[in-house]
Amino acid sequence: NKLPLSVPITLPNGIKYDQPTGLFINNEFVPSRQGKTFEVISPSTEEEITHVYEAREDDVNIAVEAATHAFENTDWATQDPAIRGKLLYNLAELVEEHQDVLASIESLDNGKALQLAKGDVGLVAAYIRSCAGWADKVYGKLIETGSTHFSYSRREPLGVCGQIIPWNFPLLMWSWKIAPALATGNTCVLKTAESTPLSALYASKLVKEAGFPRGVLNIVSGFGGTVGAAIASHPKIKKVAFTGSTRTGRTIMKAAAESNLKKITLELGGKSPNIVFADADINKAVQNIILGIYYNSGEVCCAGSRIYVQESIYDKVLEAFKTQAEAVKVGDPFDLETFQGAQTSQQQLDKILSYIDIGKEEGAKVVTGGSRIGDKGYFIKPTIFADVKEDMRIVKEEIFGPVVTITKFKDVDEVIKLANDSEYGLAAGIHTSDINKAIDVSHKIKAGTVWVNTYNDFHSQVPFGGFGQSGIGREMGAEALDNYTQIKAVRIKIY
Ligand code: NAD
Repeated sequence: NKLPLSVPITLPNGIKYDQPTGLFINNEFVPSRQGKTFEVISPSTEEEITHVYEAREDDVNIAVEAATHAFENTDWATQDPAIRGKLLYNLAELVEEHQDVLASIESLDNGKALQLAKGDVGLVAAYIRSCAGWADKVYGKLIETGSTHFSYSRREPLGVCGQIIPWNFPLLMWSWKIAPALATGNTCVLKTAESTPLSALYASKLVKEAGFPRGVLNIVSGFGGTVGAAIASHPKIKKVAFTGSTRTGRTIMKAAAESNLKKITLELGGKSPNIVFADADINKAVQNIILGIYYNSGEVCCAGSRIYVQESIYDKVLEAFKTQAEAVKVGDPFDLETFQGAQTSQQQLDKILSYIDIGKEEGAKVVTGGSRIGDKGYFIKPTIFADVKEDMRIVKEEIFGPVVTITKFKDVDEVIKLANDSEYGLAAGIHTSDINKAIDVSHKIKAGTVWVNTYNDFHSQVPFGGFGQSGIGREMGAEALDNYTQIKAVRIKIY
């Protein structure tokens, strides 16, 4: 039986909508060439939501052809950039108009709490709007080289960009990838994560409605080993932008190098320190460490997964943290009281539970949590490990779930050493009321983002990305647009 290109879905909160199931190529939903489909599961019920079409290499080729045509043979990249800005403004409006359905799809497909998904959709609209504003503000330079020449540089788009996104923020990652690429005149072939393909397909309908011409954005749902690998090694793709695990990032970088040396940006894993100094406002700091680790069920690349607390307040902080962790409402994502929904997949559930076992075997103390909740839906208790040693795997490795370690420290020097003892360097948190300490420690921490007296606090204009093995390049801010353009120098001889 052939899968229809759209299936009616009634969401748990009663919203009815039509879910596209096809690949989105040339502004149309189409079946995959081989007609294969894959199942999409609701992580909170473990029931099937629908099937969607599964792309393979041949579909990637068709999508790349569409994107190449739009880039090479239309005025997409060369027109007045304000036109691209206007289309992005239209898209931001449409995302806001459809925010209830988009947030609900995200909760259903990813398992995240609906109230958090609503926050994601707000960030999506804000980021698309921010890129809309950038579209006609991409500047080159006039370079003074003396009276014999006229020299200038301009920023040009790269061409077809391949984009591979993860499952923890499906729609937000879609926007972080497509908005700067389209603002600067590139065209895109994007692969969603196999466990969360639904919201990007729905949003593609909005891209067409916003007036984007055919071929500028193409979505290929499918698996990493096939579609992802085909994107990373495609000879006509000029750049690959990836968010996901460090292991896969390494594979993609190799494929990019060995194919056509395509440009890459990688946003990878983390094991971010969240530091509480004795002079911090303890109540606020505890709220931030809760937000740092249990937000989005801990499936956050910059999760504050290593907590360091200065020894004089350690017992007090741990007690307050335990009380608040136990009060986190875990469960049905569509219950508006829920803060922590389901983990996104069986695979992720198993991985987190195995790390909990590893922590217990390593001799760490479970302060609270430490097990699955129920046996239907991928729910895990907010978990705290204390009495940890810095060389334990639960301190070193990314768990990507609601599991955190907490350690005492004596002074600034010690905590900087502990914080920086990681192959990663995505983010860090500092909680203090001393502005001098805040600035000093911020500058000494090896991380792409440092939050002071806040955590997981994003803004469209503030660049985000990693030091060390947490990545290459930046998303958001002016830096994201830099990563989607290349500089051409023009030097004219004056006779
Ligand atoms: P992953 O990195 O393998 O998957 C992310 C994306 O990459 C998906 O779209 C996937 O299909 C694609 N992919 C996988 N293999 C590929 C390949 N060979 N070539 C091209 N694309 C490929 O992550 P995962 O296996 O879903 O999760 C494993 C772990 O990765 C998680 O437990 C977590 O620790 C980490 N992770 C981190 C982030 C992040 O935002 N930093 C996101 C997702 C997962």
